Amino acid sequence: MKSNELNFSGGPGALPETVLEQTRVAISALPETGISVLGMSHRSDWFRAILDEAEQNLRALLGISDDYAITFQQGGSSLQFAMIPMNFAAQGFAPPEYVTSGYWSGRATAEAARVTAMNVAWDGHATGYRQLPALDQLDISGSAAYLHYVSNETVEGLQFPVCAEAPPVPLIADMSSDFLSKPFRPDTYSMIYAHAQKNLGPAGVTVAVIRRSLLERIPDGLPTILDFRTHVTHGSNYNTPPVFAIYVLTLITRWLRFEVGGLHAMQRINERKARRVYDTLDALCDNVTVHADRRWRSQMNVAFKFADSRLDDAFIEAAREQGIVGLEGHRSIGGLRASLYNAVTEQAVDTLTNALMEFSLQHA
Ligand code: PMP
Repeated sequence: MKSNELNFSGGPGALPETVLEQTRVAISALPETGISVLGMSHRSDWFRAILDEAEQNLRALLGISDDYAITFQQGGSSLQFAMIPMNFAAQGFAPPEYVTSGYWSGRATAEAARVTAMNVAWDGHATGYRQLPALDQLDISGSAAYLHYVSNETVEGLQFPVCAEAPPVPLIADMSSDFLSKPFRPDTYSMIYAHAQKNLGPAGVTVAVIRRSLLERIPDGLPTILDFRTHVTHGSNYNTPPVFAIYVLTLITRWLRFEVGGLHAMQRINERKARRVYDTLDALCDNVTVHADRRWRSQMNVAFKFADSRLDDAFIEAAREQGIVGLEGHRSIGGLRASLYNAVTEQAVDTLTNALMEFSLQHA
C-alpha cells in the first residue's frame, strides 16, 4: 500500500484515493471547463453550481431541513470559537455554557471567555480528560444563550455518543473531527460546525450549519465578515472563498453519497475499523494504555501510549518503515494517536494492527 493510504494523521488527514485522482485531474484542467480548478473564478456559474451541490449533498447525507442555513467559511474552527460568542451570547439571555472536555474544547472555552461572560458547565481536567459528562445531566441555566461542546476530542480520543434529545437551551457542537463519520439528528442542534481537514477535504474551509431562527439573535454592529448573516445572505460568496477546498469537499460529499452509500454505511465501516484497533490495543494491555476511559473511546482518534515510553518513538519509526505515517500523538499529551477518519480503509487498519502486534511481540 502507498503512504497516502496508510496516513493515520490527526489532520489534515487521509483523503479517498478516488477523490485524490479526480483532484489531480482538476488541477490540470477540469473536465467541465477545460481550465484548472486553481484558476476558476469564484463568481463563475461553475463555482455556484459546486457550492449548491455541496450544500445539497450535505442536506441529503444528514437530512438537514431548510430550517437551517449551511455556510462555507474560512478561518477554521478557531475562528468559529470567536464568532459563536460574538454572534450568539445575546443580550437578554444568561451567559453561554461551555463543556471543557479536552484540548480543543479548552481552546473554545478560553476564546469565549475573551469575548463574553460565560460559564464552564463541566471540566474534565481533574480526571486528565479521560471521561465525558452526560450532556442532559449538566447543571446549566435554562436561560443560557447556548451550550457549547466538542463532539469528538481529537487530541485525547474521546467521543460523545450521538445526542438524541435536544437540551432546553440551543446546543452548539464543534464536530470538526467526527462530522460525516456517522448519522445524527441535526434538529437536536442549533448550530454544528466542522473544519474540512478531517473528514471533508483539505484545510481552508469550515462548514457551519445554523438554525435560521438563531440568526435573529445576532447583534448589529459586528464586523461584516464576522457576522454569520453575511455568509448566509451572500451564499458563502461574500468575499473570495477557498474555491479549491470547496471543490474537493464537494467531491468528498459525492463519494460519501454515491460510492460509500451514505452515512449509515460509513458508520458501519468506521465501527469495524475502531473495533479492530481497540481490540488489538486491549490484547496488548500489559504494554499499552489507551488514554480514554473505555466508555468514551473515540471511533475517529485512538490516543495511546506504550508503558515503556521509549517504545512510542520506536514504534513510530518501525511503522514508518512500512509506509505507515501520522502516528505521532498531539504535542500536548505526547504518545501515539491513530486517526481513523472516513478515508482510512479497513485494509489500512489491518496493516496498522498487524504492525502493532508484530512490534509488541518483538519488544515483549
Ligand atoms: N476543533 C477540533 C475538534 C479540532 O480537532 C481542531 C483542530 N484539529 C480545531 C477545533 C481547530 O481547528 P482549526 O485549526 O481549523 O482552527
